[in-house]
Amino acid sequence: MSPETLTLDELVFEVRRSDRRRTLEVSVGRQGELRVYAPALTGTDELAAWVGRKLLWVHQKLALKQDMATPAMPPDFATGEVFSYLGRSYRLKLVDRQRRALDFDGDSFLLRREARERAAQHFRAWYRRHGLPWVRDRIELLAPRVGASPREVVVRDLGYRWGSCSRSGRIAIHWKTLQLPVRLIDYVIVHELAHLAEARHSGEFWARVERALPDWAERREELAGIAGSYLRVGEPRG
Ligand SMILES: [Zn+2]
Repeated sequence: MSPETLTLDELVFEVRRSDRRRTLEVSVGRQGELRVYAPALTGTDELAAWVGRKLLWVHQKLALKQDMATPAMPPDFATGEVFSYLGRSYRLKLVDRQRRALDFDGDSFLLRREARERAAQHFRAWYRRHGLPWVRDRIELLAPRVGASPREVVVRDLGYRWGSCSRSGRIAIHWKTLQLPVRLIDYVIVHELAHLAEARHSGEFWARVERALPDWAERREELAGIAGSYLRVGEPRG
């Protein structure tokens, strides 16, 4: 028996019914596979209407997946290669002459051809230089919503962590975090701001996060789903 499917807006959902289920749920899998989980007796019309209300969310998820589909391979810094900044993709162009080794014109990244050997370093430096003022502004915006302010903000390499905070009140954001869509960077920032007030992931901590970002759980899930593919620029080769 072939699985039951539901087609909406040119998207095909596999329908999985279960006697034990009470609520409807839609999921977008790692490869973009779409599923609807439903109580056994849900009518087709009800199912279609419910999924219809979730379509915007599904499309957003799929678009994000597509953006993130870049394999976790070290870049080779060739013309046409795509790099992300604040969730948007920009192509790289190699140029013969320019003052800085790596520049950004709002449209493309421009890398001086003879600087290609050290391109990974130039990118790291670029994200740090451009990221810091951006992160500072963003923190200024979000801090009042969380009710906590850092004493210091830095953008640097944090290994496998998107962000961290110290007892002394310093928030650090990984330069790679700057590649993410703004809504996910906001989650990283709010998470660290909340830690300034609550060191542990206590109920109090999550309540603080929720006051600032009511849909934090969805953002956290998105972030968890993309970690591997996004952390790529400047990774050691081999
Ligand atoms: Zn935490």
